[in-house]
Amino acid sequence: MEKSRIEYVLKKIEEQTSNAVEEQEKILENILKRNAETDYLNKFLHGQTDKQLFKKYVPVVTYEDIKSYIDRVIDGEPPNILTTEPIIEFILSSGTSGGEPKYVLSTAECSQKRASIPMLMEAVIHKHIEGLDKGKGMYLLFSNLDFDTPSGLKARMFSSSYLSSPTFKTTVCKYATTPIEIILSLNKPQSMYCQLLIGLIRRHEVLRIGTIFASTFPNCIKFLQDHWKDICSDIRTGHLSDLITEQDCRTPMSSFLLEPNSELADLLEPIFENESWEGIITKLWPKAKYIDAIVTGSMSQYIGLIDYYSGRLPIISTFYNSSEACFGINMEPLNKPWDVSYTFLPNMAYFEFIPVDKESPQKAQKLHFNGVSNEESIEKLENGNAQIVDLVDVKIGQCYEVVVTTLAGLYRYRVGDILKVTGFHNKSPKFQFVERQNVALSIDRDKTSEADLSKAIKAAEIELEARGFLLTAYSSFADTWSIPGRYVLFWELKLRDSNIDQLKLDSNTMEQCCRRVEESLDFTYKLFRKMNLIGPLEIRVVKFGAFDELMNFCVSRGAAPLQYKTPCCLKIKEAIEILDSRVVGKFFSNGNLA
Ligand code: AMP
Repeated sequence: MEKSRIEYVLKKIEEQTSNAVEEQEKILENILKRNAETDYLNKFLHGQTDKQLFKKYVPVVTYEDIKSYIDRVIDGEPPNILTTEPIIEFILSSGTSGGEPKYVLSTAECSQKRASIPMLMEAVIHKHIEGLDKGKGMYLLFSNLDFDTPSGLKARMFSSSYLSSPTFKTTVCKYATTPIEIILSLNKPQSMYCQLLIGLIRRHEVLRIGTIFASTFPNCIKFLQDHWKDICSDIRTGHLSDLITEQDCRTPMSSFLLEPNSELADLLEPIFENESWEGIITKLWPKAKYIDAIVTGSMSQYIGLIDYYSGRLPIISTFYNSSEACFGINMEPLNKPWDVSYTFLPNMAYFEFIPVDKESPQKAQKLHFNGVSNEESIEKLENGNAQIVDLVDVKIGQCYEVVVTTLAGLYRYRVGDILKVTGFHNKSPKFQFVERQNVALSIDRDKTSEADLSKAIKAAEIELEARGFLLTAYSSFADTWSIPGRYVLFWELKLRDSNIDQLKLDSNTMEQCCRRVEESLDFTYKLFRKMNLIGPLEIRVVKFGAFDELMNFCVSRGAAPLQYKTPCCLKIKEAIEILDSRVVGKFFSNGNLA
């Protein structure tokens, strides 16, 4: 990025964050003016555009509250349901509603605003790390399939939409090692192969290694473990492996594999052959200055793994974004992952915040304003000693649930994320990501709630019961060290009609249980399983009494014995070890998911 461009972009960020009050006023005014006549807003405002009336009468909602309006848009009903702007596509959120993905409307303006974020971040990073313009970034990026909706519009993940945007082509693509055709290939393994092969051929140009979410890294490492010999052989011979059959990968590769390069192959092979792969990223790409990947929130589970393989290169979490809206960017990119805060960009959407009790973030969930007028909802907020506040009025140290109103037809929409204010950048607050509400297990971008997990386990219990077993306790954890990561369930079983402790476990039955759980999980889980971003689910059967030991452990750490509830998912290493040391059988889901 040229120096003058960096300065220009940084100046724009400073201006916007300094004018947070005005920017927020402006965006709300704009949204109301354009959309007052939509079916949705008209119901509450009767064509009025006054901001105070908006706050008074438009309810704070969740997806379920507005699903019927979104479904009408998906079905292709005439415009003006939620927004007067033309809808260009639907963005699929990894959050789910009744097992289905959530659909978020996207307009040209919204899509453009979002696509500008990496460019803003690029300027911020250049300010903190020198010399990046002297080389390239190996960005491991992959596009997913899209599908048509009855409206004729496409539905796809935000990442796919972004990768095919003109902004991506004219920004990130310019300093990425991989040509865009390979990034856009829908054959993920072949695309990954070529991205890594080019990255290795251009290894001395690579100054940074990146992706969007950190969860891509374990898959990449596993891929290298499985394919490094083929990759090195291609480098040695100067011929692309026959494994790569897609033309969108093969054609651009011809500009990189120009001639045999046995010298490079001789140098790389011993690095791969080394028994320990600790620090391998810096051995393969010695000039890499940092890793660019989001490692906050549920992605923090991958920090250890990235540190291990990268030899502790700085990790930069660039932005905080969702299908619904883009929120903010990290203005102090070199902060440690756990100190990362995102500065909200006040021109992206209109933001409001529900204060959340720090000790019990679940409290925000009780404030569910299902279609009630805002007078009532404010009353409820007040009863809960909470009042919705504007972006510029949040208090340092306080936790909030974020609520957005967007140019693409979301009004006072609860995103479901809890954030903590850590300070201000000019007039705009900085937030640390605390948690996504109601997520028990998470791998990659799948988010499985306690309720989803319990429903899926119930479905599998039918298999057990038919064979005379009772499931007496269960817990789980997301095993992100295996590649790809998988969900592991701990089950304590007992024979219904006997007190015998030594159970004879039939592997067919147990594998069938694994499958039943998987089949009962939601759309995103099944999609990610099919894409091999999540590995086969595992059930570990533990000795009878193992869960009593877990309870003793939790009580020893302060849990109240009378109120003790078996944790549905385990995050503490010692707790996992207690159950792991009592495992009597391990079973995996096999075969493909329907
Ligand atoms: P999706 O709508 O599928 O793109 O998922 C968006 C959600 O991912 C957000 O609401 C957050 O829960 C999570 N997320 C996105 N960016 C970050 C980030 N930088 N740190 C932590 N969580 C994030």
